[in-house]
Amino acid sequence: MRPSGKLHIGNWLGALTNMVELQASYDCIYAAVDVHALTTDDGGAPESLRENVNEMVLDWLAAGIDPKESTVFVQSAVPEVMVLHTLLSMMTPLGWLLRVPTFKDKVRQMDATEESVGYGLVGYPVLMTSDIILYKADTVPVGEDQVPHIELAREIVRRFNFRYGDTFPEPQAKLTEVPLVVGLDGQAKMSKTLDNHVELAAAPEETKKKILTAFTDPERLRKSDPGRPWVCNVYALHKYFTPDQTDEIYEQCTQGTRGCVDCKGILADGVNARLADLRDKRRDLEKHPDYVQDILLDGANRAKEIARATLEEVQEKMGLSSATLEGK
Ligand code: ADP
Repeated sequence: MRPSGKLHIGNWLGALTNMVELQASYDCIYAAVDVHALTTDDGGAPESLRENVNEMVLDWLAAGIDPKESTVFVQSAVPEVMVLHTLLSMMTPLGWLLRVPTFKDKVRQMDATEESVGYGLVGYPVLMTSDIILYKADTVPVGEDQVPHIELAREIVRRFNFRYGDTFPEPQAKLTEVPLVVGLDGQAKMSKTLDNHVELAAAPEETKKKILTAFTDPERLRKSDPGRPWVCNVYALHKYFTPDQTDEIYEQCTQGTRGCVDCKGILADGVNARLADLRDKRRDLEKHPDYVQDILLDGANRAKEIARATLEEVQEKMGLSSATLEGK
């Protein structure tokens, strides 16, 4: 996951809950991909990049990522990934990358053109492929927007395996039941950049204030107007945060007996109740600033071992001299 600071409920419902769950059945490797953050000007500000890693890892740990079960590290601490990225970029046609929808979206968001953005942004999915296959991972817990990147990773793997012999498994995306959480504006994906999000770690009052700004059914002007919960994102969020009350809310909304402000208040209470334990745990973790650093150091050492072995195998298969010079 890209370290862009504190996570929001979209990241949590779309990816983090699966990251936690997979720990029971897989050897999990989770990286805060700080090099990826450099692909956009906003993500790579030096003064905030390390802090953003710290904030994100705190959210991971608070949500239930267990550093004893999983390898948790920061991408740049295992530079082998950048070597693999360079090697994979030799066999990835530019056309594949220019077609990726997230590339086009990012260019638009940055108010740039395909010619003016950095070369690294075009190669974002190649670096992501390296992140995955360096550890020979077969399952990647991500939100729906990342699916095209995993498809591309499979294409690159197929090409590598075809040219150099079976080396990597074809990675599959693992989606949650809520692979796309819509933002409070009711329009686009919940995202920090669009400021239509609710932070996981926010204080309860802040959460309430933010949720009260949410858009609901635009055709419902008065409380007595019958609402259309099926077009309302607040109702969609109720399904995850107040599952016991959704039937009642649906009825009251469609009959015009409960207003949107009330409905948003109930949602805020549900979000605050559901996240209370996570937030308590995060506050405890924040009291030990060295803890995250220790985890990242240990994780990097574990990740490096796997990374070195894979890279050696790749260099050998590709006929690079580094493989034969090693140890001489
Ligand atoms: P953001 O879009 O806020 O910058 P990232 O792109 O860093 O977040 O996403 C981190 C992870 O969270 C990815 O797996 C992504 O698919 C998932 N994710 C992000 N936003 C959402 C959302 N609104 N709904 C579902 N999953 C999401």
